[in-house]
Amino acid sequence: MKAIRVERLGPPDVMELQDVPAPTPGPGEVRIEVEAVGINFADVLSVAGEYLTRTRVPYTPGMEFAGIVESLGEGVTGVQVGQRVAALGGSGALARYSVVNAAGLIPVPENLSGAQAAAFPVSYFTAYHGLKTLGRGVEGEWVLVQAAAGALGTASIQLARAMGMHVIALASTDEKLALARDLGADVTILQDDPDRVQKVRDAAGGKGVPLILEVVGGKRFQESLDMAAPQGRIIVIGNASREQANLRPVELMKRNLTVTGLWLTSLMNDRAVTMQAAQALAGLVGSGKVTPQVGPTYALADSARAFQDLLDRKTTGKVIIEP
Ligand code: NDP
Repeated sequence: MKAIRVERLGPPDVMELQDVPAPTPGPGEVRIEVEAVGINFADVLSVAGEYLTRTRVPYTPGMEFAGIVESLGEGVTGVQVGQRVAALGGSGALARYSVVNAAGLIPVPENLSGAQAAAFPVSYFTAYHGLKTLGRGVEGEWVLVQAAAGALGTASIQLARAMGMHVIALASTDEKLALARDLGADVTILQDDPDRVQKVRDAAGGKGVPLILEVVGGKRFQESLDMAAPQGRIIVIGNASREQANLRPVELMKRNLTVTGLWLTSLMNDRAVTMQAAQALAGLVGSGKVTPQVGPTYALADSARAFQDLLDRKTTGKVIIEP
């Protein structure tokens, strides 16, 4: 079968299309014919060797995908051949077939296409945990969403609005801000507007924003502290700038700020938290209140270009690769 292989870490062009044997499902595993792979910023960092966990080469990237169950390993129950599922594995999705543990499969609501299903798990679970589980956002509260037209950003806007929160969206272009408005953002501000800190504070009533979903990091992290309201919560979800941020704890004391880290992979180990999020999200997606935003779609052979476009900030919604 065709698959993307990475033999040395580096920029997206280290990814090669190769012919490899199709994987065989072991006990408790299923083999899925991949319909669509959702590409996350984490995939780009993983290929570069800059992710939170060490990348071991050679490997096939791709952690989030949707497809049709093609065969079952020994002892698998509760899953049918022919069923559409989404899955969140560590890697291996950029291929015709991928094998994952059956316990990690995510049922797909009937109203979602394969691409929409592949655009769902990472962004929506992360947005939910940022807004609710860790962010403790409540109806009527303001939230600041950075990189608002991206995969996580669009999910965050939709979920925040569905929870009755008010959204201030930051993004790098007018087109991206227009998408944020279409999805329900109340206030949109260019990420490089020289007055952005004051504008964000004013939009939230002058005192700053009570909840910030921080995904840029680096020098911008200080700005998030400046944009936060007294007792504000800053949820650190990403570091798209790939720069180090300086955090002086004394500064948090002055205005009673809270900075909380969020990594979906480790939160998924908490079954109760995951089930609670899954239930809330199933209701919102099943009823059509939130719709995963499918972004540009690429063929498997164009995977390196897809990764580079994501890195170059050219994309909106979830980048999809169809093997
Ligand atoms: P996106 O689709 O949001 O794409 C990344 C976006 O980041 C770009 O479009 C760009 O938006 C913005 N950005 C800001 N600064 C930079 C920069 N210096 N270089 C490149 N992009 C920049 O990707 P994802 O939805 O996959 O991820 C968004 C962020 O959330 C990432 O930091 C990612 O690591 C994080 N994340 C973390 C998770 C976790 O479990 N902790 C789970 C999911 C995502 P703009 O042009 O508008 O600035």
